[in-house]
Amino acid sequence: MAVPEGADIYDELNGEEVENPTEEINRVANAVGLKWDVNDPLSHIPGYDMYCHWNTDAIFDRGNTSRFVHDTLCLRIVESECDQAMPCTGHVTSPFGPRRGRMHYGVDLKLQTGDPVVCAFPGMVRISKYNKSFGNVVVVRHHNGLETLYAHLSKRKVEPGQMVYAGDTPWAWGNTGRSRGSHLHFEVRFLDQPIDPTLLFDVETGRLKSDNFEIHKGTFESIAAAKAAAGSRKYHVVRSGDTLSAIARRHGTTVGATAA
Ligand SMILES: [Zn+2]
Repeated sequence: MAVPEGADIYDELNGEEVENPTEEINRVANAVGLKWDVNDPLSHIPGYDMYCHWNTDAIFDRGNTSRFVHDTLCLRIVESECDQAMPCTGHVTSPFGPRRGRMHYGVDLKLQTGDPVVCAFPGMVRISKYNKSFGNVVVVRHHNGLETLYAHLSKRKVEPGQMVYAGDTPWAWGNTGRSRGSHLHFEVRFLDQPIDPTLLFDVETGRLKSDNFEIHKGTFESIAAAKAAAGSRKYHVVRSGDTLSAIARRHGTTVGATAA
């Protein structure tokens, strides 16, 4: 694997030593479903040195969310133009961020029936399965450690361990799981932490905003703050006889704040 820019921080990211490398290689090789030579380095798996595992079942490994401890990490997003493609061309129907009291960790992109969904960057399929929330979902790990997730697909024609390329068309539009209307739910994550895809892509034109992407603690802190705000939002069911000032008093606020 070509070592991406920012590789000098790998040692810091990689907090876990692999105790028995041969055993680990075999375990991962089995999980990936590829023929593996014992001399093959684990670096065949994109981002393995950052994640230290390859899980073909868990969509997110929540346990790893505290591992990003760096001030700034510059990720090389693409080497050439064919390393990148917008998963689909539709406009955003629901942005990243708080939504109805919960966090929406991706963007929803409008699709028409039968529209193909393509892979955003080259990488290896880590997840391809049906999930209660996401419907048919595919997660691809990329060489710089980013992961992209494509949900509510009607078909999945890829398997874990399969290498995919930007612009591949292995998936078609679908409407499964909890999706409303025809859309693709598209997420970008780094070490299991969500990144607003519109920071990377101009979703209207499908172009990358920059060949490099800087990640710093603040990238995720602002998301944590938004999540906390979404989770703490109070809903009040108005009962007959309620006045605005009574509602405000009950919630320890003022009429002005309630109306805002
Ligand atoms: Zn969505």
